[in-house]
Amino acid sequence: MSFTSIFGGRSAKTFRPKKNIPEGTHQYELMKHAEATLGSGNLRQAVSLPDGEDLNEWVAVNTVDFFNQINMLYGTITEFCTPEVCPIMSAGPRYEYHWADGQTVKKPIKCSAPKYIDYLMTWVQDQLDDETVFPSKIGVPFPKNFSTMAKTILKRLFRVYAHIYHQHFSEIVKLQEEAHLNTSFKHFIFFVQEFNLIDRKELAPLQELIDRLTHTGK
Ligand code: ZN
Repeated sequence: MSFTSIFGGRSAKTFRPKKNIPEGTHQYELMKHAEATLGSGNLRQAVSLPDGEDLNEWVAVNTVDFFNQINMLYGTITEFCTPEVCPIMSAGPRYEYHWADGQTVKKPIKCSAPKYIDYLMTWVQDQLDDETVFPSKIGVPFPKNFSTMAKTILKRLFRVYAHIYHQHFSEIVKLQEEAHLNTSFKHFIFFVQEFNLIDRKELAPLQELIDRLTHTGK
């Protein structure tokens, strides 16, 4: 299966616009490199930092890619994820999330899953579009807190996977998106494990699945 085309066949009802990495930039080359190595089938190798590359830049390119994948996956089930069906943002019965971004919203808001995910994806998109956080131009340095920012973004993006797996997996199966979801999530997990980007306790809602997906080590 070609990884780069896994979402290509579906007439995409995207949740929000895809974030593009401009052609002609070094990050675009890195993105192309990532796509090519993913096709090799060895995920551990595919997620590792390419020789001579900057870690921040590699994390930035992959974070944009995960945002786009999650955007697309969630976009396929938005009609099922309504305030009536999902009045709280949960990942199974034991995990519930309240929205706060720590910047404009400091006191956590209890809201429905679609509202939470809208807040979350808007917040992530704002970070990705902010040149002071995610510089795309050559020679513009990454901010000192980039690693912390990237970790927060990935920690939050994980919750969308967790919500989809726990609350909408049957719909994903009906849509025949199961393989796409698993491939995307496995890539995400291998990536965050490689660079230790999400605390283990944050991954708890999907720990069993993670153990299963990473068992083969490939
Ligand atoms: Zn939902």
